[in-house]
Amino acid sequence: MIETSLNIKKAETSKLHLLDFDNIPFGKVFTDHMYVADYKDGAWGDFRIEPFAKFSIHPANIAWHYGQSIFEGMKATKSIDGTPMLFRPEMHSKRINRSAERLCMPAFPKDAFMEGIYELVKLEQNWIPKQEGSALYLRPFMIAMDEFIGVQVSKTYKFVIFCCPVGPYYSKSLRLKAETKYIRAAEGGTGYAKAAGNYAGSLYPTEIAKSEGYDQVLWLDAKEFKYAQEVGTMNIFFAIGDKVITPSIKEGTILEGITRSSLIAILKEKGHTVEERPIEIGEIMAAGKEGTLKEVFGAGTAAVVANVKTIGYNGDEVNLNPDNYKISPMLKDTINGIRSTRLEDTHGWTVKVV
Ligand SMILES: *Cc1c(COP(=O)(O)O)cnc(C)c1O
Repeated sequence: MIETSLNIKKAETSKLHLLDFDNIPFGKVFTDHMYVADYKDGAWGDFRIEPFAKFSIHPANIAWHYGQSIFEGMKATKSIDGTPMLFRPEMHSKRINRSAERLCMPAFPKDAFMEGIYELVKLEQNWIPKQEGSALYLRPFMIAMDEFIGVQVSKTYKFVIFCCPVGPYYSKSLRLKAETKYIRAAEGGTGYAKAAGNYAGSLYPTEIAKSEGYDQVLWLDAKEFKYAQEVGTMNIFFAIGDKVITPSIKEGTILEGITRSSLIAILKEKGHTVEERPIEIGEIMAAGKEGTLKEVFGAGTAAVVANVKTIGYNGDEVNLNPDNYKISPMLKDTINGIRSTRLEDTHGWTVKVV
């Protein structure tokens, strides 16, 4: 690890004894400490770990008004012998900096990112649930901190990492509505960035989809409403015939998931043919009718994979039976197995925190 002047101020008491590891509500329990760094005068500094607490924020904070706000989501798990582990942390460091560039925010140095995650997880390791599939969810984020009313690039920022223990995430099978009126991301937009505003804009169409009996929106491209993009906070995979197809990232409209990239590698290793390409909603619906659409599943850090049982499109529906899925459970088992050291990490994806 690198040498920076990371100051660690420990909490006087721990809340850990209040946690029931068998019943952890998602995203509502926070650990004792957080990592914080501040950006001013053109540089990041004051790297520190301090007791988890609220911030005091100015009413004219630029992030609140104009949305210079980005985040990451990753997991720390425990090996069978109890060693804390991270999953592909460098990819998260790279991705937050791609998001930062798109929103005119300063890059956060990779060494500081790695050290922050590493030291925080080391300090909070007793919060990592042991059961396979559960994890300590880590939320790095960056917000603008200038106190100014006017649309301009902030000169000050805050970078924070906090942690939430999460139980095994049993996602129910999803009903998706392919959205033909609203969009999530257009070419040239911010779709590839994990930017807060992308999610704000997705809420209204998702609420409409829910009122129609769906769980989530399957986003289509902004130009023609023809090509599938992704779902909520997950990338999407379609097993059609003997191929597994997932939308390509080169259009810059979907978030390049680290789960997506890991699943593609596992699929190829297991001998599956994987195609990363634009895929038309018409092709998906036709395959559903013909019976060649075998599986549909979302992929993201929280759920690993979430099976899809229904796709609705323009009043038409394709229904599948996830109980018969073979690829999706294999992928989930492989990722969770690597994260718990039950399976060998042949790709060098995990980093031990010792
Ligand atoms: C975070 C996210 C994903 C999944 O990325 P992972 O790195 O696999 O967690 C996919 N789509 C969107 C829109 C996301 O925000």
